Amino acid sequence: MTTSKSPGRPAKRTMWDIASHFYADAVADMAVHPGVRDQLREPQRVLNVSFPVKMDDGSVRMFTGWRVHHNIVRGPAKGGIRYAPGLTLEDVQGLAMMMTWKTAVVGLPFGGAKGGVACDPHRLSHDELERITRRYTLEIIPLLGPERDIPAPDMGTDERVMAWIMDTYSLVKGYSVPAVVTGKPVAVGGSHGRRRATGRGVVFVLRELAERVGLDLRGARVAVHGFGKVGSTVAYMLYHVLGSRVVAVCDSRGGVYHPDGLDILDLQRYKAETGSVVGFPGGEAVSSPEMLTVPCDVLVPASVECVITEENADRVQARVIVEAANAPLTPEADHILRERGVAVVPDVLANAGGVTVSYFEWVQDLQSFFWTEEEVTQQLKRVMTRAFDRVYTLASEANVSLRTAAYRLAISRVATAYELRGFYP
Ligand code: NAD
Repeated sequence: MTTSKSPGRPAKRTMWDIASHFYADAVADMAVHPGVRDQLREPQRVLNVSFPVKMDDGSVRMFTGWRVHHNIVRGPAKGGIRYAPGLTLEDVQGLAMMMTWKTAVVGLPFGGAKGGVACDPHRLSHDELERITRRYTLEIIPLLGPERDIPAPDMGTDERVMAWIMDTYSLVKGYSVPAVVTGKPVAVGGSHGRRRATGRGVVFVLRELAERVGLDLRGARVAVHGFGKVGSTVAYMLYHVLGSRVVAVCDSRGGVYHPDGLDILDLQRYKAETGSVVGFPGGEAVSSPEMLTVPCDVLVPASVECVITEENADRVQARVIVEAANAPLTPEADHILRERGVAVVPDVLANAGGVTVSYFEWVQDLQSFFWTEEEVTQQLKRVMTRAFDRVYTLASEANVSLRTAAYRLAISRVATAYELRGFYP
């Protein structure tokens, strides 16, 4: 088991460790061919790149990046590109494995991939970020292509970065290839509705779960951990469309709490002006860790990984958790919450709305025929609702958690693809 340790603190689980743990847990009771079982435990392909970039002050700095294909038996590799300080190959491998299950659980014809560069995008100028992106694209270009590997944004990257990747790839090819990345600006082949897709998908699955467990979302108390692209969309939809009381939100600097609910439209304006939710006058200050344990019915972790661990899982008061972020619960926390009867919609299902609309973007680019936002949202709802229903039914029939059911469904789809394609040579 791989962990990274700092003195005096419990060992921190890596993304690879978490993904491998949940995989091993789910596959243990499945009749999967031993060869397939072993194959899925490892990434299929790993590309490690180091490259020099000229900085604004004239110096040259070396950067390290990766592109990992965890599995491509069901279709081209699909997964985001993360720019984060301290990013490791283990993180990228773990996230790539989660993408294999994510695309399979919602039934998209893709495999799982992830990439990234160890860098802090907040400390780089616009020009430095562009040079890093273009050079990184050139380094991983042997893997890329609309039929091979289609990157997308992840933490630290955005539409602008995707436009640079598309441009660099297209310059090498000699013609425009919009389908090589998703999450692009609409003006260069992006899809309407991509930016809000993950948050919308989270709300679609929450609605399905709430109906089944008898939770009325109108007036329900919801806490949202993280107020970025995903968290702010979730908070907005719950507040504005479904009439829930969003009692707490936070970002990396701190949080805000009001037991009767926050005015999310005011809060969005406040954040746009100040850059943070901290100091919002419509509620009292709470720290980001405290926010996870406030009285609420629904908790939506939408920030970073491992925010709920064995140290605070006992104090979580929500009866429903929807994992908008990737791996917000450690396996230990997952176990504690399961024992306590808290329903957890796992990341591989809950946040699959983003990759689903990425799939729609890829389809639109390949056909050069573009959909309206209404069409995109309608199709997204169909895919998410169907996937949730399948996972919920499997979980009820086998009396297992939604996570185990989602993993079993995904693993069985990948294993079936192996069996049908056969082992070559
Ligand atoms: P983002 O960068 O837009 O927002 C992240 C938010 O989390 C910010 O408000 C940030 O301040 C906050 N945050 C960071 N560290 C924190 C900490 N330690 N405590 C509290 N808050 C903290 O990112 P995003 O795109 O909204 O992604 C959020 C999560 O959702 C990530 O785990 C990401 O991998 C996952 N995800 C995103 C998408 C997508 O389409 N954007 C798709 C699938 C999964």
